[in-house]
Amino acid sequence: MNSNHFEITAEDKNARTGILHTKSGDIETPAFMPVATLGDIKTLPSWDLRELGVQLFISNIYHLHLRPGEELIKNLGGLHSFMDWDKPIATDSGGFQVYSLAARRIVQDDGILFSSHIDGSPLRFTPEKVLDIQMALGSDVMMPLDECVGYPIGKGYAKEATQRTNKWAYRAANYFKTADYQGLLFGIIQGSTYTDLRIEAAREIADIGFDGYAIGGLVVGESNEQTWEVLNSTIPCLPRDYPRYTMGFGKVGDILKGVMKGIDLFDCVIPTRNARTGAFYTREGKINIINSRFKDDPLPISEECRCPTCQHYSRAYIRHLFNSNEILAKYLATVHNIFFYMQLMKDIRKHIKNGTIEEWSGKILNRYKGGFDV
Ligand SMILES: [Zn+2]
Repeated sequence: MNSNHFEITAEDKNARTGILHTKSGDIETPAFMPVATLGDIKTLPSWDLRELGVQLFISNIYHLHLRPGEELIKNLGGLHSFMDWDKPIATDSGGFQVYSLAARRIVQDDGILFSSHIDGSPLRFTPEKVLDIQMALGSDVMMPLDECVGYPIGKGYAKEATQRTNKWAYRAANYFKTADYQGLLFGIIQGSTYTDLRIEAAREIADIGFDGYAIGGLVVGESNEQTWEVLNSTIPCLPRDYPRYTMGFGKVGDILKGVMKGIDLFDCVIPTRNARTGAFYTREGKINIINSRFKDDPLPISEECRCPTCQHYSRAYIRHLFNSNEILAKYLATVHNIFFYMQLMKDIRKHIKNGTIEEWSGKILNRYKGGFDV
């Protein structure tokens, strides 16, 4: 199998840089996707996303289907036009949100019946329906319907759910072949913490043949050791020439370790969600600006950071805004954290190209360990 939409441009041990070609432009990988849950990255307009170097983000179809509905968005020119974003957009399948948010959920072999968490109305997702929603939105990177099972889960049910996810993947791939649509469709590998189920699923999903491969159902409560045990056994089963994506991975240490294993795409709410609580990412670790030791601190959040927040404001001022519950506080923090993540990915790509990724990420991880994490 050879992919013509993904080029590996440099390799350093298992880490690689690449270019993912989509209908809305190219993405340099490894890349981090901020999460635009409701069709926005909270507090940031599109001009800031461009300024901060965001290449693509991921949006949740569960939410957009419920409100305002994909038909309305399609009639207004699609999600790109609706959000004023002409670069790539990824969308998820809604499986995780149905699992975590829906008021009621009945999983059937044909699809998932659920009730809206907003007004309780009955809804149904099938493998075909979630692709229709993503295509109506104009998504560039799409995900097929999968069944999320959470953690912990008995092996019997985990196996049943994984087999169902694999069958849905077949249906999604077949349906997608009949659609005249230029977006990319990734496959999702489930299997909870059971490495044999994961390996079986990875082989089966790879056999179907997708434009990329996502590993889902991790970081849902299992230990870090279990997460990496699953990844260590799953990644070698994925085709080398296709992009690989760990869903929901966003801790700096996990991104660095994931890159070293050959992962190309990441997404997580933590840089934006944590920003709104006053948590700022720096190369020394995470700091919480609410801490009283910053009350008269004239320094920027990070002296080495080139983001607009750090160019203009002191820790004391930002702390004051958080303590006064000013909206500006959340905006300034989100700007810094998104810039930090984009810069981190840029540095990762640079060090893979230079052949220094292992040494450099080791240094960052050591700095984090001794950092002022609070
Ligand atoms: Zn900054």
